[in-house]
Amino acid sequence: MSQNGRYKAALLFGAPGVGKGTQGKILGLVPGFFHLSSGDVFRSIDIESDEGQVIYKYISKGELVPDDLTVKIWRKALEAYIFLSRFKPREDLLILDGIPRNVHQAEMISEVIDVRAVVHLTCLDLDQMVDRIKRRAIRESRVDDANESIIRHRFNVYEQDTAPVLNCYPDEMINSIDAMGSPAMVLTKVLEVVGPVQEEIFRANAAAKQ
Ligand code: ADP
Repeated sequence: MSQNGRYKAALLFGAPGVGKGTQGKILGLVPGFFHLSSGDVFRSIDIESDEGQVIYKYISKGELVPDDLTVKIWRKALEAYIFLSRFKPREDLLILDGIPRNVHQAEMISEVIDVRAVVHLTCLDLDQMVDRIKRRAIRESRVDDANESIIRHRFNVYEQDTAPVLNCYPDEMINSIDAMGSPAMVLTKVLEVVGPVQEEIFRANAAAKQ
């Protein structure tokens, strides 16, 4: 945690299907990192609940869930993981995946999040990403991956609303990584970015214990 009480975080950033979830899940297995995906949080909400119904309505169309609801649910999930000590703010670097997804969300979460690094996973080959997403749809039966026009709409939303989020952070903080390598090679590069940030937290804690 930062001195001002905000949680230290690295953002996994990039278009749908670029591999944020794959990398985030692997990092989440390494002590000192806690991976939180807003998409996973939404998919875990009971679809029969009032909030679940609203979320489903947006996700199934490939639209962003409204900001207030998104941030409210995401904060509740974050606090629940803190309560359960799954996320230990003093020791862990938070790996955020899927949020912020527009400039307003970036402003909203900055109250509680201290962004230390941005990992921008890039891929210029749209067709390759659409293919990845279609394969994922079969594996995970996701409603937002169900047909190609919804998938393509999500790319438009990304270009229009999400890509400008990069302007919220200083250039030196943004690390672009080609996402089309093998998961292991991409992971190596992601670790080169987030490893030193986590190491700083690790060393500060070790020093405080002496
Ligand atoms: P992907 O990994 O393909 O980028 P996600 O799992 O992150 O997809 O998100 C799936 C869907 O959940 C999004 O298309 C959107 O409808 C909704 N969603 C996830 N995160 C947010 C967010 N921060 N704000 C608004 N909607 C979101």
